[in-house]
Amino acid sequence: MRKKVIAGNWKMNTDLSEAVELISGIKNSLDFSSVSADVIVCPPFVSLETAAELTKETPIKVGAQNMFYEESGAFTGEISAKMLKSVGCEYVILGHSERRAIFGESNEWINKKIAKALSEELNVIFCIGETLEEREKGIMEDVLRTQITEGLAGISAEQMKNVIIAYEPVWAIGTGKTATPEQAEAAHKFIRGLVAELYDGATAENLTVQYGGSVKPNNAKELLSQPNIDGALVGGAALKADSFVEIVKAAE
Ligand code: PEP
Repeated sequence: MRKKVIAGNWKMNTDLSEAVELISGIKNSLDFSSVSADVIVCPPFVSLETAAELTKETPIKVGAQNMFYEESGAFTGEISAKMLKSVGCEYVILGHSERRAIFGESNEWINKKIAKALSEELNVIFCIGETLEEREKGIMEDVLRTQITEGLAGISAEQMKNVIIAYEPVWAIGTGKTATPEQAEAAHKFIRGLVAELYDGATAENLTVQYGGSVKPNNAKELLSQPNIDGALVGGAALKADSFVEIVKAAE
């Protein structure tokens, strides 16, 4: 049985005091004795240390939304894996479609970032997903195959134990258009099959595959009850403690 993993991607939202308020809200409304899912919050860089402090005595884990693959040096504006570890971060989201589309991140870059994060013992939430145009052209599986094979090039089966794949159809992110449970399940099944082909059956069976794209309290339960959907990466609905907590509860 794979454990469900619910992660909140706060994107470029919340200043420090708002982040403190949101984490306190989540902490106050979650009854940790009955929470069966793993819960991760991914605030902006400047709130990571505080988030890690505030969640120390709880099962909530903290993740970053990006990092650079170099160790240190003249990379103005960038943050390294070691820096994230040093403030108590345990996860990092890599390959998000906004990083790919707005900041031009290639599969090659994402692959270098994944390799660096894993070598520094950060867990990776690796995002993949097709655009609407690609889905309509019937090339969704080809797109996912390329993102996975290039993104995970050189990553071993052992390292895959620390990788979560988040399937996020680009057309469903922040649009209010959720993939139907059937569409999401079909993509997740394809992803798991591909991982079995690239690695082995056990790696595929143990892999957590999250769905992301307009997950809300009213659609979470149906999505999360699909056999190959092991959790959710939540954007908009993670910015309110109530809706995030409801999604966490839907994973039970
Ligand atoms: C995301 O950005 O990862 C995401 C899924 O956003 P939203 O839930 O707002 O669609």
